[in-house]
Amino acid sequence: MDLNFSADEIAFRDEVRAFVATHLPADIRDRVQRGDERHVADDLRRWQRILFEHGWGAAMWPAEFGGTGWDKTRQYLFDIECFAADAPIQLPFGLKMVAPVIMRYGSDAQKARFLPRILDGTDWWCQGYSEPGSGSDLASLKTRAERDGDHYVVNGQKAWNTLGQHADWIFCLVRTDAAAKPQRGISFLLIDMKTPGIRVQPTRLLDGRHEVNEIFFDDVRVPVENLVGEENAGWTYAKFLLGHERTNIAGIGASRRELARLKRMAGHARRHGAPLLDDSIFATRIAQVELELKALEVTNLRVIFAEARQQAPGPEASMLKIRGTEILQRISELQIEALGPRALQFDGDGEDVPRAVGQYMNLRKLSIYGGSNEIQRNIIAQMVLQL
Ligand SMILES: Cc1cc2nc3c(=O)[nH]c(=O)nc-3n(C[C@H](O)[C@H](O)[C@H](O)COP(=O)(O)OP(=O)(O)OC[C@H]3O[C@@H](n4cnc5c(N)ncnc54)[C@H](O)[C@@H]3O)c2cc1C
Repeated sequence: MDLNFSADEIAFRDEVRAFVATHLPADIRDRVQRGDERHVADDLRRWQRILFEHGWGAAMWPAEFGGTGWDKTRQYLFDIECFAADAPIQLPFGLKMVAPVIMRYGSDAQKARFLPRILDGTDWWCQGYSEPGSGSDLASLKTRAERDGDHYVVNGQKAWNTLGQHADWIFCLVRTDAAAKPQRGISFLLIDMKTPGIRVQPTRLLDGRHEVNEIFFDDVRVPVENLVGEENAGWTYAKFLLGHERTNIAGIGASRRELARLKRMAGHARRHGAPLLDDSIFATRIAQVELELKALEVTNLRVIFAEARQQAPGPEASMLKIRGTEILQRISELQIEALGPRALQFDGDGEDVPRAVGQYMNLRKLSIYGGSNEIQRNIIAQMVLQL
């Protein structure tokens, strides 16, 4: 199998590199470098707008909906270049999650209403799947929606909702038939976050940030026209959506960026009067994780090229998720080791120190969300090992 990029793909990569170098605003880039998320909502919207105006608002969407129509290889290269240049991530909830569901299962009116506003960054979406007690066992969710004329009335609670404090809309899984088998009684609703009866309550994380929320629904009236597809068929759409999370699930771009940062830190840190990077034991540990990242990158490319030949991705996505998250967590652990006692300086704005510590704690989430790594191992056990 040829794992080299073609001349066209290399030219494309250079075009992306040049574009990001000239169009990413310096203030946004600096904040991303410092891990300063105080203006995250503004920064993400501004960057989305810039990409949109260049025709690159949705790398993964087909051209008919205003996307780039790029294949998986170009999407991968775009992602890598954006990370390398310290561009903000494009939030997945609108672009990669709800949009593909609307494209596939939504009504024409829903497509016309929602997709353009996701593409140009007007609407910020968040995901309302998990609930207290319903994470891995998602089908047990209890938030209910009862039909009342031309509305659903929603009551219940969502948990671990990422960045919903900035959101204009939330896509929710709700129970519309309590008597049916768990997977059969679920529907997929689009809910305006300004609707009366919605309360967003922050969940403070270990790093002190306000990144996730609990969301309470108290007699929230949602027009029936905001139901996607058919009532009680939401589980099918929910699974389709999770499949779309797979794009770039290995997080190669993020790991590469953090590896470069680790080397910089180890170059500055001194041990026995010499740079830590010259310490053969520490350098070997960096080399080990770099090799593993390289191996993951090659595996990721194999999956991408197989998909390009129309082979559907199988349990490889689970493998990529487990290895990708383990590697990024390992790099963040090595960053803390490189900092040594300085890692105890947790507060304040600065360069790598507060960023590394906060990030070390924050990245514990990687092996939990998007289907925990234990659940991914179950999938591999069932689909690959046939256990
Ligand atoms: C930072 C963060 C952001 C998130 N953002 C969102 C969001 O925006 N929207 C959203 O809907 N959800 C979000 N989630 C929720 C996330 O999807 C769930 O946390 C995840 O699915 C795990 O569910 P749980 O927390 O209920 O843990 P549980 O399902 O209770 O699992 C607890 C532990 O038991 C293990 N376990 C559970 N079942 C099995 C099994 N069958 N076999 C082996 N081990 C098992 C798990 O791996 C885990 O280690 C987020 C979570 C985090 C941490």
